[in-house]
Amino acid sequence: MLDAQLSRPEKGESVRVRFAPSPTGYPHLGNIRTALFNWLFARHCGGKFVLRIEDTDVARRVEGATEAILDGLRWLRLDWDEGPYFQSQRLGIYREVADQLLENGYAYLCYCSPRRLEAMRQEQVRRKQPPKYDRHCRHLTQKAKAELEASGITPVVRFQTPLEGQTEFQDLIRGEIVFENATLDDFVLLKSDGYPTYHLANIADDHSMEISHVLRADEWLSSTPRHMLLYRALGWQPPKFAHLPMILGPDKSKLSKRHGAVSITEYRDQGYLPEAMTNFLTLLGWSLDDKTELLSLEEIVRHFSLKRIGKTAAIFNKDKLEWMNGVYLRRLSLKEFAEQATIFLERHFSASAEWPPPPEYVYQVMPLIQERARTLAQAPQLSEFFFIDELEYDSSLLLSRGMSSTSATQAIKVTLDRLKAVGNWDVASLEGFLRPLAAELGLSARVFFGLLRVAITGRTAAPPLFETMAIIGKKRCSERLTRALDKLSTLD
Ligand code: GLU
Repeated sequence: MLDAQLSRPEKGESVRVRFAPSPTGYPHLGNIRTALFNWLFARHCGGKFVLRIEDTDVARRVEGATEAILDGLRWLRLDWDEGPYFQSQRLGIYREVADQLLENGYAYLCYCSPRRLEAMRQEQVRRKQPPKYDRHCRHLTQKAKAELEASGITPVVRFQTPLEGQTEFQDLIRGEIVFENATLDDFVLLKSDGYPTYHLANIADDHSMEISHVLRADEWLSSTPRHMLLYRALGWQPPKFAHLPMILGPDKSKLSKRHGAVSITEYRDQGYLPEAMTNFLTLLGWSLDDKTELLSLEEIVRHFSLKRIGKTAAIFNKDKLEWMNGVYLRRLSLKEFAEQATIFLERHFSASAEWPPPPEYVYQVMPLIQERARTLAQAPQLSEFFFIDELEYDSSLLLSRGMSSTSATQAIKVTLDRLKAVGNWDVASLEGFLRPLAAELGLSARVFFGLLRVAITGRTAAPPLFETMAIIGKKRCSERLTRALDKLSTLD
């Protein structure tokens, strides 16, 4: 059994963790969850959080990915203490480590051409064998080596993996992990273009940056025995490893775009709040007590421990994220909410003739949106009828509570006529005027107000009717009721 002590830094041990993304794509939820857990661990322990961009895979580099990573971290307020370091600017360090391994007999030069490697791979696939380098160059004679060297071919450097035995390590989350060395390849350390592979650059940097704990995604677990072998070959003390549980979609399949695994900055653009996002991401793998859902970042930092990271996969639930974001939106002061929501309203309505309305008017609408929005991007849709005059809606909605067109027409005509006399256009006066009117018309409040709601907002579900009418104002309400009459006349 794993000793609980293991997941706590030892006395006097200084915690240095890193987030080491590859800019081969935009940062998705899984990447950022890794960053967050590292950051939380560093902040909880009073350690350091280092940012390192692993940009040595030149062919797979994606334009703008590094910026998106930095943007995402800044948005979530995951500040780093050192870096960003770029591996592409540290090639000399990796070269030196590769040379050291060559000198000490732990690595060898491989001259195999891509064509030979490809033919070998195809043959292995045909024989249903796992693709693996056949170690051809590990056994070259001195003479063959000299000839190849003279031929001008630039070799790659491969690690000389032990042919037998086991490589073991303690994972702080998964416990004891054992790999058979025979299953490991003589993997490449340095490519012919002088760039290191992930394995070499990763361990060289974790060592030189004095990383104490490596918290990374589960998918890297199978790389760890290679890393352990490298540490051993170099005589370096390895960091402690903790592989975080996978994040799966609600259907238990790998998280994909379909589930919302889009770039983290898209969540910002859709109007999620950073504090909701960090709360949500924390619970993808960590829990305080299996029941508490809402935790501020300060609380999480205070309680965070590797011990409470689960072993089983976490399930991403978009509904839960939306719900949580709604909670955080409602916790904002009205002023804060208004500031943020206005950005989304601006973006949506700026082209319309009625925009911008007076600021006091926008401010009056805000509480009604704040009550209902689960994301800020929903704000325009939730409030459209406050800002747009030409409401588009299907006329038949006016009869959705089962009224005949004649009685709906009659009800609206009477309302229009009577509201001329309403002096104070506020919630109490509107209620005092409309409730008795329903009775007088012989309609239930549900049916009558349902009709008015559609006429005023173009929808069957909207914020409370009297508040909505009070904000929209007498003139606009009258115009909308008149328009509803026109619409009703087309229904017969
Ligand atoms: N560059 C790797 C990645 O993109 C880092 C893995 C690790 O943390 O070792 O996730």
